[in-house]
Amino acid sequence: MYVFTHQGVNVSLLVVGSVALDTVETPFGRVKDALGGSAVYISTAASFFTTPIRLVGVVGGDFPKEYFSFLESRQIDLDGLRVIQDGRTFRWSGRYHYDLNNRDTLLTELNVFSSFEPQIPDGYKRSLYVCLGNIHPNLQRRVLAQISKPRLVVGDTMNYWIETTPQELRQTLELLDVLILNDSEVRLLAKEPNLVRAAKVIRSMGPRVIIIKKGEHGALLVTEDTIFSAPAYPLENIYDPTGAGDSFAGGFIGWLAKTDDVSDGNLKRAVIYGSALASFCVERFSVDGLRELSYLKIQDRYRSFMELSRFDER
Ligand code: AMP
Repeated sequence: MYVFTHQGVNVSLLVVGSVALDTVETPFGRVKDALGGSAVYISTAASFFTTPIRLVGVVGGDFPKEYFSFLESRQIDLDGLRVIQDGRTFRWSGRYHYDLNNRDTLLTELNVFSSFEPQIPDGYKRSLYVCLGNIHPNLQRRVLAQISKPRLVVGDTMNYWIETTPQELRQTLELLDVLILNDSEVRLLAKEPNLVRAAKVIRSMGPRVIIIKKGEHGALLVTEDTIFSAPAYPLENIYDPTGAGDSFAGGFIGWLAKTDDVSDGNLKRAVIYGSALASFCVERFSVDGLRELSYLKIQDRYRSFMELSRFDER
């Protein structure tokens, strides 16, 4: 069902991924059991563009009440968030050094996530826009098997799946419209060092759109007819890069769902909105950079992005 707003057409957006308690250490501080997980960052970022967001994931009985309240305050629909009362929530811990581009994973405790079997509520099965966070490619495929005729499917993956489940990943790639991954993952998946050529190789595996995240060097959008390079926002204060990639994905698909336009021109705008959301995310720990954000602030940063690489012929 379409919901008309003053700024566009909101279509239904389904997000599937991890919901986590993160313990993160950077040179600027530490948080323990903070709200995290791919589905949380994607949904929160997307909620500035279209609501309600349909989140599908799993948590344990230890998931704090205030985190449920936060998600609800962002109009994230939690009918698809399973709570296993006698289980523990997925926990992840990472440490960043002065070069914030690299992190050490200190702990991945799957807990209730180890037996996660995404059940898509009946009311979500006709979602038009679908964002698959970084989970096992077979689970991503089992989500899609439950959705009827989505208009756009965006998927994320990581080196772990590229290396350990290559066949399963290849089957999932055939079902994606957009694949988002970072530069080293692109090279690994395509077995090709040149990013432009690698994107072409991956396009031949299924997704018609490839987005390559390059950390502090921005992002590259590759379609059949377009190569578009977006800068990263030059921030003075980066406190915690956790969730930057997922916030990017959320901003990207949120904008597309809001406008219901997947032309190349609008994909470029979506990449800039994704970059804007990622830039807000890293300015604070956990989801705090997104907590006090507004659509107006996002618009301001979007315009700053335009100024960043605008120049005259002479
Ligand atoms: P990003 O920084 O965008 O790569 O995303 C970081 C988020 O991913 C954190 O909030 C973690 O809780 C979550 N995460 C880390 N490892 C995994 C994993 N193996 N499966 C699912 N989610 C994960």
